[in-house]
Amino acid sequence: MINRNVQEDLKQLDSIFKESGLSRRDALKMMGLGGAGLVVTGTEASAATSVQASDAKGKIVIVGGGLSGVATAAKLTNSLSNPDITIIEPNPNSVSYQPGNTLIGAGLWTKDAVTYETKDFMPNGVKWIQDKAVEFNPTANELKTAKGEVIKYDFLVIAAGLVNDFGMIKGLEEVGEVYTSSQEDAVKAKKILGQNGLCSVYFTEGAVDTWTQMQKFVADAKSGKKVTGVFPEPHTPFKCGGAQKKITNLVDARLNEAGARANADLQFLTNGKKLFGVPEYHAAIESQMKTRNVNVRYEHKFTELDLVNKIAKFEKHWEVKGAWDADLEEFTMETKTEPLEVKYDFCHVIPPAKAPNEIAKSPLGSEKGWVPVNNETLQHKVFPNVFSLGDIAAVPLGKTGGSARKQYAVLCTNLIALMEGKEMTAKYDGYTVCPLITSIGTVMLAEFKWKAADGTGAVAAPSFPLDPTQERWIYWLLKVYLLKPMTMYGMLSGRA
Ligand SMILES: Cc1cc2nc3c(=O)[nH]c(=O)nc-3n(C[C@H](O)[C@H](O)[C@H](O)COP(=O)(O)OP(=O)(O)OC[C@H]3O[C@@H](n4cnc5c(N)ncnc54)[C@H](O)[C@@H]3O)c2cc1C
Repeated sequence: MINRNVQEDLKQLDSIFKESGLSRRDALKMMGLGGAGLVVTGTEASAATSVQASDAKGKIVIVGGGLSGVATAAKLTNSLSNPDITIIEPNPNSVSYQPGNTLIGAGLWTKDAVTYETKDFMPNGVKWIQDKAVEFNPTANELKTAKGEVIKYDFLVIAAGLVNDFGMIKGLEEVGEVYTSSQEDAVKAKKILGQNGLCSVYFTEGAVDTWTQMQKFVADAKSGKKVTGVFPEPHTPFKCGGAQKKITNLVDARLNEAGARANADLQFLTNGKKLFGVPEYHAAIESQMKTRNVNVRYEHKFTELDLVNKIAKFEKHWEVKGAWDADLEEFTMETKTEPLEVKYDFCHVIPPAKAPNEIAKSPLGSEKGWVPVNNETLQHKVFPNVFSLGDIAAVPLGKTGGSARKQYAVLCTNLIALMEGKEMTAKYDGYTVCPLITSIGTVMLAEFKWKAADGTGAVAAPSFPLDPTQERWIYWLLKVYLLKPMTMYGMLSGRA
């Protein structure tokens, strides 16, 4: 079991590199991260004093003090000579390195490796209002908090992330909505999730219980029992498209470690026709699943969980040629469906995601709830003094910390340009990254971005000349030892 703070991570990493004859700097360069300046020291944001600092003025209010909100506040603090920044965030505790939940779920980290007090990462000089923004009046440039305070702003950044809506899955209505780091939500969710083989790493307490359930599953297989593990992906948007694949691979690894893999049937079910939007990554993952003897089923919509009988229910769907359309002079396509029930001993649930109601249903939300922004500038499509980033922004391919890392730099540059009355020139290109854990000790680093500037399509975007479809140990080191310090000390101080 590995639970460490950042300094311990780096010490351990350095000793691994030393054994391999590498310095940390060289290893970072090999991973294509040399430019990130990640010889991590633990920097803090403070008002800029350099000659490059902008003298632009205006009150900036940021809704959400998670990963994107704090990174944005820190970078703005570093870039403005007289920053006036307020963050509205209700939660006293945070988890900004949420990818760590996956490692907790497989018993590689413990909970305190990812949780921290929100106040500890607030940038210097930023005013924190510990409350929830509940009403928005963007024409009057003001919002209201749950405690009734009316807050005026000149510029607004929406960085409120997303809500895990387990209630959208029939059978899990009682679990309802769960924020990843909310202790209160966890208490409610744990009444159903985290027992009887059912679990989810999408909230931190749930990740802890995932490890307990995984151990039971492995122990049953080891005892000679024939067991089934079910790994469904929802048909709705969800954060981190790679998470279910990672959990599947980690269960496979733990079973192998116990010498019990032969007794387990692992089933991965997805609503789509592919495992990844980028063709070469899809091919690589499909081949990895085949090698690991995971039964992949495409075009299966996850519809229901029967908690009493431990059955996951799906709707298999496919298209067939229908009647001839004389007007269009072509055959119509008809969708056929067929129910499928899979009895499980272990089932890892990925919750459908939605934007928090108070924003989704406000004038700032789109029809689907996400905040509509220009894909490239991240400026709101209706209210020019409003920007959005992270999980809540209606940006294709997003909903990862990797995309937030690129977005916050673009947003800050454009917001400052707007404050200075200049043209906004910074553009987000859809870049994101999924360090796909393929086993304990290997990761495939799937980096990709939009194919076209309007956000359609996806193409591989490797940072350096190594085949990105290969599983590598060096990327495991990146995932387990470096991405957390990059997030906590790079992003949250606005410097990486
Ligand atoms: C299991 C798991 C694995 C993941 N793996 C990866 C990975 O491998 N790679 C990767 O890049 N990403 C991964 N991610 C995704 C990544 O963690 C998120 O995309 C990222 O944290 C989003 O940052 P955010 O700032 O948008 O949201 P958050 O960090 O969730 O912050 C949103 C904040 O807004 C606050 N808030 C909400 N509503 C309001 C309101 N009305 N008023 C005020 N505040 C509000 C919330 O309390 C919260 O603190 C993973 C996520 C999970 C759950």
